[in-house]
Amino acid sequence: MGEFELIRRYFHRPVRRATLGVGDDCALLRVADGCQLAVSSDMLVCGRHFFEDVDPEALGHKALAVNLSDLAACGARPLAFTLALALPAADEAWLAGFSRGLLALADDHDCELIGGDTTRGPLNICVTVFGEVPSVGASTTALLRSGARAGDDLWVSGNLGDARLALDALRGTHPLPPEVLAMARQRLERPTPRVALGQALRGIASAAIDVSDGLMGDLGHVLAASGLGASIEIAAARGCLAAQWTQAPNLDEAHALDCVLAGGDDYELAFTAAPDRRSAVLIAGKACATTVTRIGRMEREPGLRLMAPNGQQMIKPRRTSYDHFA
Ligand code: ADP
Ligand code: MG
Repeated sequence: MGEFELIRRYFHRPVRRATLGVGDDCALLRVADGCQLAVSSDMLVCGRHFFEDVDPEALGHKALAVNLSDLAACGARPLAFTLALALPAADEAWLAGFSRGLLALADDHDCELIGGDTTRGPLNICVTVFGEVPSVGASTTALLRSGARAGDDLWVSGNLGDARLALDALRGTHPLPPEVLAMARQRLERPTPRVALGQALRGIASAAIDVSDGLMGDLGHVLAASGLGASIEIAAARGCLAAQWTQAPNLDEAHALDCVLAGGDDYELAFTAAPDRRSAVLIAGKACATTVTRIGRMEREPGLRLMAPNGQQMIKPRRTSYDHFA
């Protein structure tokens, strides 16, 4: 199977929304009137972002999911994506699984594959997604990191920490019972991008980011962009660990908290909203069947503070997020 046969067999489908898809030098994409194009790229590198023997179908899912998560964080609606793929060999079983996982999630979000590049090399997957977000005159309705205001509530969607608990168990540093690991592994390998919630929060949230590297580190970007500080109620954040973890015997509490605050690979949204938008946030969460939890507050004083239930400030964990070059 040659390069073009590989593309035709696994990645070429008739276009739906795009004007032109796979097969020419460029794809052509139309953006609706009154909308801006939102663009984001994420790369997954073998041995760094995933284990070599990971289920290819899950990997296909995750390659697109992490990109859709960036669109979600901006409140954008997915339109299309491109796929740049380096493969050590044209392994048909692998390609079939990978493209199945990738295209199933793409179909779920009506986001079509319109082009890419395919080359031989160490396994490496780079997706670029395109979405649209309404603009009002010269300004955008996109959710940005820079929009938070002092006094805003700090919220997160879904559960935090379970992907990291799975990773640590798979690495053997913090083992888990098999049935608990199976649940956590789903979260690590098949994250759910909060695409509907991101769009529902447009006009409600003042700022947003997706939690990919770890809550504290990612929140740091919102603080920096908004020129603010924040405090997190530790008990509320700890409550974001999925309820099934109560079934894990010997779950080390300090490790659990560390996974929630700094774990990474969560692909949940962290966002801010004015206190008078609380019910609007809860309604948006309900409409998207996604839990939303208020975990803290934006403050004028710079820095990120962790508050214990007794009101005392706690020491920050050593690790706050994942950094490829730290
Ligand atoms: P060029 O050499 O002009 O960059 P290629 O020969 O690399 O184009 O690719 C041929 C066509 O196949 C292009 O339309 C390109 O976008 C598409 N394509 C290549 N790799 C992929 C892939 N992995 N998934 C989807 N489309 C792809
Ligand atoms: Mg090319």
